[in-house]
Amino acid sequence: STLLDFRNVQLTYPNGTIALSGVDLTVQRGEFVTVVGPSGCGKSTLLRIASGLESASEGTATVNTTRVGYVFQDPTLLPWRNVRQNVELLAELQWDTQAVRRTKAQQAIDLVGLSGFEKHLPRQLSGGMRMRASLARSLTLDPELFLFDEPFGALDEITREYLNDELLKLFVEQQFAGLFITHSVSEAVYLSTKVIVMSGRPGHIVDGFDVPFPM
Ligand code: ADP
Ligand code: ADP
Repeated sequence: STLLDFRNVQLTYPNGTIALSGVDLTVQRGEFVTVVGPSGCGKSTLLRIASGLESASEGTATVNTTRVGYVFQDPTLLPWRNVRQNVELLAELQWDTQAVRRTKAQQAIDLVGLSGFEKHLPRQLSGGMRMRASLARSLTLDPELFLFDEPFGALDEITREYLNDELLKLFVEQQFAGLFITHSVSEAVYLSTKVIVMSGRPGHIVDGFDVPFPM
């Protein structure tokens, strides 16, 4: 089934910049779609529309699930909360009981490989570990669709490759569908079942291909 459906989506910012033009895109259950393209081609705009932070000026963007997870480049952990307290945040906002929160958070912490670091504060973690904590926080929502905006863009190459492998494992185990934004073609091919190529001026899709042997 189709979790995300963009039809002829255009977005014009108030200053007249056309960030997206005529974008058709779907993400089906079981798909991990990567959008690749140069800086300024409209990738973040596309993801902001998918996440509901922006509305399309023309066309329609439909999300067919309420369980959407987001991971952005900046992990946005609360600095005064430890890992467990940060990971519990979304469950707290859903009014889950403390026992349920604890269980959800611990499962997510284990999944991302942060067991043993529950009491660490964000500043005591490496960049990669902060990103994993951020991922764990979203996993507590048990998302059907996961949106990633260059989550590993600020990390060094080795950490990045490592986290890409971890993300692939999670995708297979947890069976969420993904829409992943990156400017790295190799990362796109490595991660996805389908690659969408965007070009700037104005932002539109110029190519797309299914990856023949995903994972
Ligand atoms: P990418 O993520 O591929 O770098 P963006 O979606 O951030 O691209 O930006 C697409 C285009 O829209 C760029 O030309 C950018 O300068 C412009 N843009 C982004 N946000 C705004 C905004 N709030 N107001 C005006 N123009 C914007
Ligand atoms: P990641 O790949 O998650 O960024 P690093 O490569 O930075 O992790 O760190 C490798 C290992 O070093 C971690 O799995 C962890 O065991 C340990 N480590 C990193 N930062 C800390 C820290 N602040 N306190 C204790 N151990 C740490």
